[in-house]
Parts: sequence; C-alpha cells; structure tokens
Amino acid sequence: MMKEEPIADQKQYLRWHLVESVTSALPKAFGDEEFRFTKVLSGAKQPQPRWRRAFAATDGSLGEAFGQLYVDEDFSPAAKARAKALVENLRVAYAERIQSTEWMSAATKAEALKKLNAFVVKIGYPDKWKDYSALKVNRESALNNLFAAAEWSTKDNLSKFGKPVDRTVWGMTPPTVNAYYNASLNEIVFPAGILQPPFYDPKADDAVNYGGIGAVIGHEMTHGFDDQGRKVDSQGNLRDWWTKEDGEKFMAKADVVGKQFDAFTPLDSVHVNGKLTMGENLADLGGLTIAYAAFMKTPQAKAGKLIDGFTPEQRFFLNFAQIWRVNMRPETLRQQVQTDPHSPGQFRTIGPLQNMPEFHKAFSCKEGDKMVRPASNRAKIW
Ligand SMILES: [Zn+2]
Repeated sequence: MMKEEPIADQKQYLRWHLVESVTSALPKAFGDEEFRFTKVLSGAKQPQPRWRRAFAATDGSLGEAFGQLYVDEDFSPAAKARAKALVENLRVAYAERIQSTEWMSAATKAEALKKLNAFVVKIGYPDKWKDYSALKVNRESALNNLFAAAEWSTKDNLSKFGKPVDRTVWGMTPPTVNAYYNASLNEIVFPAGILQPPFYDPKADDAVNYGGIGAVIGHEMTHGFDDQGRKVDSQGNLRDWWTKEDGEKFMAKADVVGKQFDAFTPLDSVHVNGKLTMGENLADLGGLTIAYAAFMKTPQAKAGKLIDGFTPEQRFFLNFAQIWRVNMRPETLRQQVQTDPHSPGQFRTIGPLQNMPEFHKAFSCKEGDKMVRPASNRAKIW
C-alpha cells in the first residue's frame, strides 16, 4: 500500500489517526466530531460521562500507577489467595477430564497434561510495577501529557529489544474487567478488575464463584487447548504435539460447535460466524464444563442445601448466565458479530448450556425442550 496509495492520502490517514488518538485532550469541537463518527458505528445516543472518559484516559496512559490505587482500595490479599486456590482446583479438575477423555491417545494426553501443569498463573496485579518516574505529567497541557505518555510507552517497548523475555509483564491493567491466555508465555492472567461481582465475591458461596469466575478461569485454561492454542506446547513454542488422529478427532468435535454458532442469528439477517468465534466458543464450553467439575468437589455441592430456594447446581448456572448479561444497540451488536471473535453474550450463555446434560438435569429440562440439544447434535470435548 505504501507504494500504491497516493502519498497525500497516506498523510491524511496518519493525520486522522493522530488527531483521533488525542481528541479527549483537544477543544470540545474535536470531541463532538469524534462522537458523531462513533454514533454511526455504535448507535450510541450520548458520549460517555466525563468522569468515565477521564478514568479511561488515566488507565490507558498510567495503567499500573492507577492500578495500584485501585488494588489498595478494592483487592485484598485474602481475595487474591482465594482466587489462587480456585485456579488450582480448576487445574486439578481439568487434569482429571484430560485423563478420562475417551477420544485422546495416551501420548497426546501426556503432552496436554504437561502443558496444563506448566500454565503460569497471574492474579490481580503485577509483582513488579512499571516505573513511570521518567514520564513527566503536568497541569499545563492535557495534550502534552498524552504525547508524553505515548512516548514513554514506545520507549518502554523499545527497551525490551534484544533482552531476554520478561515473563513478569502484564498485557492488561489491574482495573480491567477482562482476562487472557497468552500462548507464547503459556500463562493465564486475571486482573483485579474481573475479580469482583458478578464474577467473583469473596463473601459469596462456592456455587456463585465457580459459576462466575470459575467459568472464566476454565475459559482461559481452555484457550490453551482451543483450535489455535493447541498448536503451541507447554513452553509456548509453536509445535504440533498432537497425534494426527487425535488432531482430526479434535477438529471434528470443534466443527460441531462451529455449526451450532453459525446457526445463531442475533439480528434478522446477521448470523454469528462460527469460524471467527471458534476459539472463544470452545473456551466457553470447555471452561464451563471444567468449572462445573471443580464445583462438584466442593463441600457445598456435596451437601446440596438450598439457598433462596435454589440448589447449588442451579446457583452455579444462574451466575454463569449473569456474568454475560449485556445490553447493546443493534449497531454495536452488528459490529460485534462481524468483527469480534467473541459471540454476543446471549449466545455465550445459551450455546454452552444447550450442550450440557448437567444443566438440563439441574433445571429438570426434558428432551425436546428449547435448551436441550438432541444427543446426536450435542458438542462435548472435555
Ligand atoms: Zn477468550
């Protein structure tokens, strides 16, 4: 494109990106124009309130300094310890599922277990915080502060060049409500921001926590064994550790999930793209299965006592459904379906549950019910 596109267009394109990246610090007319553009794509009726935009800008520029304040306020060492224990319980449950799958050979199982045991777990916030002392922030110019932060961040990245891999880095800031699996470091990472209700509550019963953050932990673990993650080994290297036959069996099972999601239509003419969302859908189904298996080992699941009229199993699934509640405009939904590897929340909930006999049993669903897929069309991998 650099050779083919007119230089004037390229300049215009770069200028637009530069201006767009700092509209929050430019005179109001720029922000208004930026919002007019966003409105078309997202259907939003009004801009985010100023305090939200200010927090987002601070999180984007000084994420780990901002994160320290957040963690001091809202994430106790006890909450961290309990989350860590949850992760380890899920690791045990996952290992058992791998060992007991009937479709995987002993050789592939051994590699899968090696990979599972090698997962590095990061919870809450980094052990080593970024040092922002070289970044000068002042009260004179918000725009210059943004430029200074961008420059600092570029230098921070360049400083890694030629050095050994830093395994302590985080790809998200502590207040972020999200989590990730990083294939090349073979690590699963859970920022403090997602370790709060409805995902996780140190004061809630196990059913709620396993159905919430448990399913998220299982999801990130399963990314290590989804259609992409499975190509990487326990050391984070791209290496095919599957026997040919096991790889084919896996892809056939994944295909069942792909077809199920292809058939979901969140808007009239818009279908979910089973191929685009494959890894996420596999992670959702696997994650929920593992979280449920881990929950079954807890004293609460074994005792079976009702809380608020619900069985432990029902409470588990109810919170799973709650974590994916969303409310979005059709424009945003349309954009998500076409560009985002995550299926819309509604199908992230319904999709896995339609495949799970444990869910059908918990709510006494019958063959032929909307939430029960016929056995011939049911997906099960782990
Ligand atoms: Zn994911």
